[in-house]
Amino acid sequence: MKVYFIGAGPGDPELITIKGARLIGEATVVIYAGSLVPERVLEHASDDAVIMNSASMNLDEVCAVYNEYRDSDITIARVHTGDPSIYGAIGEQIAYLREEGIPFQVIPGVSSFQASAAVLEQELTLPSVSQSVILSRISGRTPTPEKEDLALLAKAQATMILFLSIGMAKEVEEKLLKEYPPKTPVAIVYRASWPDQKVFRGTLDELAKITEDNSLTRQALIFVGEVLNNEFELSKLYDASFTHGYRKGNA
Ligand code: SAH
Repeated sequence: MKVYFIGAGPGDPELITIKGARLIGEATVVIYAGSLVPERVLEHASDDAVIMNSASMNLDEVCAVYNEYRDSDITIARVHTGDPSIYGAIGEQIAYLREEGIPFQVIPGVSSFQASAAVLEQELTLPSVSQSVILSRISGRTPTPEKEDLALLAKAQATMILFLSIGMAKEVEEKLLKEYPPKTPVAIVYRASWPDQKVFRGTLDELAKITEDNSLTRQALIFVGEVLNNEFELSKLYDASFTHGYRKGNA
């Protein structure tokens, strides 16, 4: 038996990897993570696959499924939204499988932050503006380590993308305003790559208002940072005078 953790992508059923889709098709059991994994991704599953929604299962129940099949020669597809490495709760499942000596493999997926950047038609790392991307969340029911308080992470004024935080937009705004200027551009992407996707833009001092006016409470990412203004110096990589491993510059 082998467990495959598969990134289902952000919503659009075409944004799953070929490998992920194939492994779902080959699996005897498919466990998918509730509301955020598109039903259409499950169309890859074979007709006789056992399909389970993990939304109503706790960790022990999921692990009990792994255990039940451990001596068989089947595969289990454990399908997570976006990329499994980002807030995917695979850590605890991996710890269990390692302890039990059950083989597994992680198949990456397109994260919602990547899909959202595509929707925004945005390079997140513009030369001279920001060369770092911080993926984080506000401390909520799952507390974040104190050292990662948003006001501290904000010090670099880098490009910041917040998961699981839209329901606490007021707190996000307050913390980030301690470091970012009030007119720093922000974007909110709701349900990136789904048919009902929406984009909202504004400035940091309007973040809570935009969220409230549009009743955004879930399934959205918050982008913050000067890069969203798209004012920057040209990348050296394509500069005609810049020599690198694949091209000789003309300077
Ligand atoms: N592993 C996932 C994230 C899971 S945490 C990934 O890589 O994308 C769930 C959070 O992800 C949501 O609260 C929301 O902030 C974000 N999210 C997931 N899918 C989204 C989508 N299609 N559009 C915008 N945000 C999304």
